Amino acid sequence: MSQLLAGKTALVLGVANKWSLAYAISAAFVREGASLILTYQSERQRQTVEELGAELRASKVFPCDVTKPEEVDQLVSVLKQATPSVEALVHSIAFANREDLSRPFLETGRDGFLLAQEVSAYSLVSISRAISPLMVNGGSVTALTYLGSTRVVQNYNVMGVAKASLEASMRYLASDLGPKNIRVNAISAGPVKTASARAIKDFSKVLDGVAALAPLRRNTDPAEVADTAVFLASDLGRGVTGNIVYVDGGFQIIGLGLGA
Ligand code: NAP
Repeated sequence: MSQLLAGKTALVLGVANKWSLAYAISAAFVREGASLILTYQSERQRQTVEELGAELRASKVFPCDVTKPEEVDQLVSVLKQATPSVEALVHSIAFANREDLSRPFLETGRDGFLLAQEVSAYSLVSISRAISPLMVNGGSVTALTYLGSTRVVQNYNVMGVAKASLEASMRYLASDLGPKNIRVNAISAGPVKTASARAIKDFSKVLDGVAALAPLRRNTDPAEVADTAVFLASDLGRGVTGNIVYVDGGFQIIGLGLGA
């Protein structure tokens, strides 16, 4: 079978460990022939991500805390040395304070609200602005989102509001970057047990509820999210921009289910 991403360089932000959605996406990108570049947030994560990068056969691993403009600028400079162009960018980053993912949304303070917005939504804008000039052959930007953006999911709270902002940002970016043949989309993944997800109170109950009610009667496999990311980054997705693709076993269509 032909490799769908042969000749493309992909920059993936958000690999923390083997359970990260970004890890599954990176593995699928390499399988499809992409040249992979990873980033890590802080010195604390450097060794882990470098080891994962070696395993994934990433060509480079660079630091980038998306809340630090100087690190985003530095990433652009090192990328310019490392590669003539970038064809795919994956934004697989989110953060909110743990207490904001367990108490009523009404209790969300200003700092926690703004933190979630900055890391989880504004970073898509800043990183797209920084990286899109390197997409000289056109390209694809893919962000990861969740149904809590448009529906109330208990305990998802401030992150749901940040995902609404991320999704709206994705659409405005798709409009701005479309004339440069850069497509911007989001994948709305069903719940997957990752480090970030574990911060949400009662997350295992969410997994059980989704598996009982989703049309496919099971939880989402990260490999399914990854294959959709391959599609969006590849030429097969060339007509798709400004979209949210749900990879959630169909859960988003359910209004009321009683399980089976
Ligand atoms: P994850 O493995 O914990 O990945 C989250 C990543 O965000 C980590 O690599 C983390 O780095 C990074 N990050 C946080 N703050 C950052 C910053 N300031 N600068 C740079 N990187 C930062 O969890 P995940 O579930 O795979 O999450 C990936 C994406 O998928 C997120 O957007 C999440 O909302 C979305 N998503 C997840 C699910 C799910 O159920 N798991 C469902 C739908 C959508 P550190 O580890 O170094 O902090």
